[in-house]
Amino acid sequence: MKVASIKAGSIISRSNIPGIDFVANPYVGCQHGCIYCYAEFMKRFTNHAGDIWGEFLDVKQFELDKIRPEKYDGKTLLLSSVTDPYTPLEVKYENTRRILRQLIGTKADIQVLTKSKLVERDADLFEQFERIEVGVSLNTLDNELAGIIEPRASRPADRLNALRRIADKGISTYVFVSPIFPRVSDWKKVIETASRITDDFRFENLNFRGHNIPRIMKLIDSKYPALSDYYRRIRMDQSLWNEVAESIETECKNAGVKCRIEFHHGGFSKE
Ligand code: SF4
Repeated sequence: MKVASIKAGSIISRSNIPGIDFVANPYVGCQHGCIYCYAEFMKRFTNHAGDIWGEFLDVKQFELDKIRPEKYDGKTLLLSSVTDPYTPLEVKYENTRRILRQLIGTKADIQVLTKSKLVERDADLFEQFERIEVGVSLNTLDNELAGIIEPRASRPADRLNALRRIADKGISTYVFVSPIFPRVSDWKKVIETASRITDDFRFENLNFRGHNIPRIMKLIDSKYPALSDYYRRIRMDQSLWNEVAESIETECKNAGVKCRIEFHHGGFSKE
């Protein structure tokens, strides 16, 4: 793992993600190294063109007192969009924890999203926010599959256990079922299991990008060869996601949980 320290002008920036006004990315890169990650495009802009995604981390140095909580009142602020705020080295550097501590008092809608059980560490801070939602990203309960596609993230059960303990403290929680590998991800089981913790579910489609297509297709061709043709089709024909969206809506209705479908990556939206 290549670890470097870099100076960051501003640790919180404006966002073009639908529904999100600001994002805080405490690191460049992400140690989780998910094979489908679309944040890998960051390599081009951050002097990491020759590096392997998941094997480098730049720890941002920033001035804490430049973060003014009131600046974000009434806005939505996500931690994080192109890294995981609880990437393993957060244990050592605590950038995420310091940002959160500094933001206490804001009237922003804070959203935290991670694939790490480490998120539980900051429950004491989450409790001090007026408006905060803490979520885990989870697309399967299958440990073997998770180990292949998200090699250094916490295993699914660990993420859910951390989320349960956070929810037990009265903090709003959600599960982001993302990215859905159609006909592979056991998202119905995720709803069934996680609905004992939260009733807020959000869903995102698999986002095919030039850099991740070879890795995704290698997985499908080797482990699910009967789906190879379907994956080649759904990559080209975004309308095939509609039937996935419809079954998700039906399942959520039957389970009595809230359902937000965020199938907007790769230029596709249901509308
Ligand atoms: S945890 Fe998120 S940011 Fe990190 S590699 Fe996985 S998908 Fe990318």
